[in-house]
Order: sequence, then structure tokens, then C-alpha cells
Amino acid sequence: MNIIRFIVIFIIIWLLIRMVKNYRNREKITTSQRNSNNIDTMVQCSRCELHLPKQQATKRGERYYCCKQHADED
Ligand SMILES: [Zn+2]
Repeated sequence: MNIIRFIVIFIIIWLLIRMVKNYRNREKITTSQRNSNNIDTMVQCSRCELHLPKQQATKRGERYYCCKQHADED
């Protein structure tokens, strides 16, 4: 009876360790996904060399500009 009890306790501990590991892995994946979504790609204005987030930049062909005025001037 003692051996059976020992095996049952061992299995319970093993399952708990597995659950904790799975939980930590899931948390890591979600935080890294959140980080990659939040990071804005920085681009440089081809005219005044100002750095700005890609979302705010004006794109002309393959080049980025800080404002519409610079895009028209270059
Ligand atoms: Zn500019």
C-alpha cells in the first residue's frame, strides 16, 4: 500500500510541474506577440532625415517622408 501511495503522490507532483511549465510557456508566447505588435517600425524622411513611425510617414514609391510637403519637394 505504501508503494501505491508513493506512486500516486509522484504522479500528482509530476502533473503539477507540467501544468506550471505549460502555463509559463503560454504566458511567454502571448507577451512576445503583444510586444511585436506594439513596436512601430521607424523610417527615415528622404528629405530632412527625420525618423518617424512608419504609420505616420508619407510614402512615395519606395521612399518615406515626414510630411506631404517634403514628399512633394523631393
Ligand atoms: Zn522631412
